[in-house]
Amino acid sequence: MKFETLAIHAGQEPDPDNGAVMTPVYLTSTYRQDGVARPRQGYEYARTQNPTRNALQDCLAVLESGSHGFAFASGLAATDTVLRLLRAGDHVLAGNDVYGGTFRLFDKVLRRFNLDFTFADTTDPESVAEALTPSTRLVWLETPTNPLLRITDIHAVAEIVHAHQNNPLLVVDNTFATPYLQHPLERGADIVVHSTTKYLGGHSDVVGGAVIVRDDELAGRLAFLQNAVGAVPGPMDCFLVLRGIKTLPVRMDRHAENAMTIVELLEEHPRVKTFMYPFHSSHPGHKIAQGQMKNGGGMISFIMKGGGAAAVRVAESTKIFTLAESLGGVESLIEVPAAMTHLSVAGSQLDVDPGLVRLSVGIENKDDLVEDIRQALEQA
Ligand SMILES: *Cc1c(COP(=O)(O)O)cnc(C)c1O
Repeated sequence: MKFETLAIHAGQEPDPDNGAVMTPVYLTSTYRQDGVARPRQGYEYARTQNPTRNALQDCLAVLESGSHGFAFASGLAATDTVLRLLRAGDHVLAGNDVYGGTFRLFDKVLRRFNLDFTFADTTDPESVAEALTPSTRLVWLETPTNPLLRITDIHAVAEIVHAHQNNPLLVVDNTFATPYLQHPLERGADIVVHSTTKYLGGHSDVVGGAVIVRDDELAGRLAFLQNAVGAVPGPMDCFLVLRGIKTLPVRMDRHAENAMTIVELLEEHPRVKTFMYPFHSSHPGHKIAQGQMKNGGGMISFIMKGGGAAAVRVAESTKIFTLAESLGGVESLIEVPAAMTHLSVAGSQLDVDPGLVRLSVGIENKDDLVEDIRQALEQA
């Protein structure tokens, strides 16, 4: 079956007893056992297993062309659990343009547990090769990145990482692209991580995360950690993500179509210094993006000629684009990363230009959206 069909049906069968088409929300913390230590179908306690969560996990595994999915309470909970595969003294090589919260978790929390981190430019496979050390056990990358939309060639990096003596785990945060646009596991990644809060949920009404793998042994270790650490999502949140995923393909196509129209405005606008969009010919990663992604997605970043003050004016002048953090919902959002989402990386090597504006282009009418950005640019 093709992606659009799987997005609606994978992991989800009508209820065998009553035919309910939608997966029920199993609001239960425990399950009756048939005898002492004789749980039914492995259901003992809901931190370990919940049928609504299982449906979501199975759906995610299929969509990412993996074999096992794990749902978490947030994207960062998923990231934290993946990092617990490591032990003190291990070295992690991460992209120098990762999500601000990922950087904060690595730099401010996990360093205290004696994990060692280096941040390198993963868009250049050579600098990945140079930054690997004898202790490297995990390589973490995002593509496209947040907020600069830089593109890394997943396959090229996978070849370098897996040629290293330790065979480190290659993790790709696939939040921006989603499995509709890009399949990191098919390009050599070992683990895919998501913030399901964004495009997978798609309606800005839930916070969640996910991890998907192919390897059974790795899946066993993650299943152990998911239960032992306990950063699991509730069943209602799983239901919301599962429902959001059903429309992922139609939403992503519209996000990309609308984004392309806004890119055309930015391209010719005198107040815009530069813009970043992976599927525009001016983007340095354009060719690689076209090779590994289905379309350019719904995220656009641009730098205002007037710097931080101009960026703030634009972000405060839109009428349809809502001034807010987060991304990936049906509604359009605008923000200034240096002052909002990426404040936690200020002063670090991940620092962003104060004149940078980030758009999460929604699925409203594209003429309305272009008009809104045009009038906001006039205010700056
Ligand atoms: C939002 C985000 C995260 C963190 O996810 P939460 O659900 O907010 O914990 C991780 N990576 C990327 C790329 C994100 O955009």
